[in-house]
Amino acid sequence: MRADSLRRFLDERNPPTPCLVVDTDVVADRAREVRSAFPGALIRYAVKANPAPPVLDALVAAGIGFDVAGPAELALCLERGAAPADLAYGNPIKKPRDIAFAFERGVREFTSDAPADVDHLGRYAPGSAVSIRVVLDAPDSVTPFGRKFGCEPAEALDLVLRAAALGLRPGIAFHVGSQQPDVAAWEIGIATAAKLFAEAEAQGVAMTRLNLGGGFATTHRAAVPSLAAYATTIASALDTYFPEDRPELMLEPGRVLVADAGLLRTEVVLVARRGERRWVYLDIGRYNGLAEAENEAIAYRFEPVGPLGGPTGPVVLAGPTCDGDDVLYQRTPYELPLALRSGDRLDVPGTGAYTASYASVGFNGIEPLRTRCVGRWGDV
Ligand SMILES: *Cc1c(COP(=O)(O)O)cnc(C)c1O
Repeated sequence: MRADSLRRFLDERNPPTPCLVVDTDVVADRAREVRSAFPGALIRYAVKANPAPPVLDALVAAGIGFDVAGPAELALCLERGAAPADLAYGNPIKKPRDIAFAFERGVREFTSDAPADVDHLGRYAPGSAVSIRVVLDAPDSVTPFGRKFGCEPAEALDLVLRAAALGLRPGIAFHVGSQQPDVAAWEIGIATAAKLFAEAEAQGVAMTRLNLGGGFATTHRAAVPSLAAYATTIASALDTYFPEDRPELMLEPGRVLVADAGLLRTEVVLVARRGERRWVYLDIGRYNGLAEAENEAIAYRFEPVGPLGGPTGPVVLAGPTCDGDDVLYQRTPYELPLALRSGDRLDVPGTGAYTASYASVGFNGIEPLRTRCVGRWGDV
């Protein structure tokens, strides 16, 4: 229903393509849904998913806090009216001077996964809450983090004790990988955390905070669990592994708050036969908005705009730049009308997350993806 109003906006205004439209009312609705699915949890939106100021405004109004990755996102959230107490510096990879910057501006919540960073926090963010991020033996998400973040659970206890000794307030964090369709991943994380809570307690350190990260998946071509399904599994895992008293929960959703609020319109630049295959080149590609098509990880939907009927046939989808890697899908099967020609347009729904924020600044002279925000907090 909301996608219809975004389509109407694009039809009426006819902005140059590619263009992303984000409905801030949908963002606010999603915020309410996340809050009611996880009552009592602290919700910190991962700003990197979509840092457009109207999106942040809608979330501030909904009482959501922010997970920031560095000083620029931090300053942006403060500028949009977020309170420092509602900010969490969730990036384990940070410079000491960026920790000091955050602390100076009132941030008291951090995530860490390495001894040197815990030491920096002890020095530059004294007394702060620090969640130690553990790596999980959980099923891969669509866009997994690999081994880049998180320490082994065995090392996590050392970091918890180290943080406590430095006067920090330790907790546990995990992130199951973005676009994680397997709800069991959170069960594994919660079980791992419960073990660490007990081990720390045995050493005289009482932890209170459990950060469940983000990772909730959104619908593109394949069905994904509902927010309610994630919430039910998480609640029952908490009952199982923390039967006595539940820790204070923090969540860092990104994608699930904004993806469905966005609709992207693109124009067909060229249709060409290459051997057996029909290639369709769009004015959107991996460098100006669809970075998550890398490895064909996220398979977006492409819907012809207007009366493009008739039979369809298989296509390879590619972006507009002169880069050989700027191909969107050559293994994932896609079909589009055989009548498709240069100048025809396609809508790509569910594109409010990790699109504009991933666009390059000007590769091949192509400008970053334009975002228009509509709805109550809109800018048009
Ligand atoms: C990116 C990120 C998130 C958000 O992940 P989603 O899959 O968009 O929900 C949350 N926490 C951290 C630390 C992140 O890096």
